[in-house]
Amino acid sequence: MSSHLSRGARRRVLISGASIAGPTLAYWLDRYGFAVTVVERAPTVRSGGYPIDIRGTALKVAERMGLRTQIDAAHIGSRSVKFVGRAGETLGAMPIYELTANDLGQDVELPRGVLTDMLYGLTRNTTIRYRFGDSIEAIKDDGEEVHVRFKSGAQERYDIVIGADGLHSNTRRLVFGPETTYNHYLGFAFNLFSMPNDLGLSREAVIYAEPGRIAGFLAVRDYPDLFAFLIFAADTPPFGQHAEKAEQIERTAALFADGGWQVPRMVEAMRHADDLFFDTVSQIRMPVWSKGRIVLVGDAACAPSFRAGQGSSMAMVGAYVLAGELARHDNHTEAFAAYERTVRPYMEANQALATRDTASILFPRSQQELDARDKMLASLRSDQSGATKYRDADAEAAHNALKLPVYG
Ligand SMILES: Cc1cc2nc3c(=O)[nH]c(=O)nc-3n(C[C@H](O)[C@H](O)[C@H](O)COP(=O)(O)OP(=O)(O)OC[C@H]3O[C@@H](n4cnc5c(N)ncnc54)[C@H](O)[C@@H]3O)c2cc1C
Repeated sequence: MSSHLSRGARRRVLISGASIAGPTLAYWLDRYGFAVTVVERAPTVRSGGYPIDIRGTALKVAERMGLRTQIDAAHIGSRSVKFVGRAGETLGAMPIYELTANDLGQDVELPRGVLTDMLYGLTRNTTIRYRFGDSIEAIKDDGEEVHVRFKSGAQERYDIVIGADGLHSNTRRLVFGPETTYNHYLGFAFNLFSMPNDLGLSREAVIYAEPGRIAGFLAVRDYPDLFAFLIFAADTPPFGQHAEKAEQIERTAALFADGGWQVPRMVEAMRHADDLFFDTVSQIRMPVWSKGRIVLVGDAACAPSFRAGQGSSMAMVGAYVLAGELARHDNHTEAFAAYERTVRPYMEANQALATRDTASILFPRSQQELDARDKMLASLRSDQSGATKYRDADAEAAHNALKLPVYG
């Protein structure tokens, strides 16, 4: 069915979420002549945050948005992932550029907030309307248009509504049902918080692991604070998005109680952190990403989890293709089908990276997996050129799995 609007009228699109997928989509839809509103529950675009990667196909999207130079300049240039033992002794290290193909210019790592600021910057002085501090409360698709009631009480009508509101997507819950149907728990939960960099770390990740318990630091450039993480395995999800913070802290503290290395300090810092972020490590898997005039993109549709390290790239690629297909087709049903046909194989290849056996190098669940990791590290130590053997060809193939269509 084609839009009820007379030909030539601007199609009205509402995007929920202004992080990575949302503003990327808004940028392209605005260029293609759509009337775009973005609703974001936070009072502004959330800056700051942990480092993320833009790789392969997603770098092409950045290039087409004129952002490649800016993104390259923001590359944080981490040098290595170092693995330490109980007393802090170095067990081995892997040069990051060997793992990520940055030496081929195919991987840029930058703070998440720097990317969201760039994307917002590109879209703020346009006809795109940002609606901060608000959220969709009710949504009704009558086949002709979508009626939206916002938390603020405002009511509007749109031709298309797009959920770009992340792993715990509000749009998905309202339109497709509860998250539990689509959330595939990967067996771990994490706590992320910042701590002063008292260890003099610089441009590196340091990881200490016991079976099913992983502690580490990310030192971004020479920032005064480190990103600290405490990750643990649990057979069933230990907490959901509404878990009590205090309960979650106590559970983590108890699990890490006898931990070596910096763990006691980290547990103490976690208790007092004002930026503690915790969640389960999960993927979103859905049989179809659209219903009527409503469609999902980014983590809302197919979050891969940070074990894949590809969520931001997938958000940019999905947004680019969805906007392009909407521009190419008057009919939204055809556009959504073409979007899904084009990107689903790429999304699934990248989601699969999170559940490969090699993922246990960073996240060992058992003594056996820890021993296998140590064996691999020992072989790296004894063969200085050995690092290149660990270049991850499968991951590189997934990162580049889509030949980006040209639209417009
Ligand atoms: C600890 C951690 C480490 C990560 N590491 C990496 C990595 O190394 N590499 C990588 O590529 N990716 C990484 N990721 C994943 C990456 O952050 C996400 O995949 C990516 O941000 C997805 O972008 P998105 O725009 O789809 O969703 P999000 O970034 O989740 O954004 C969703 C937006 O929607 C807004 N929102 C939520 N609910 C509502 C609502 N009801 N109404 C309006 N707005 C709403 C939120 O405020 C937010 O702005 C990591 C994630 C985590 C948590």
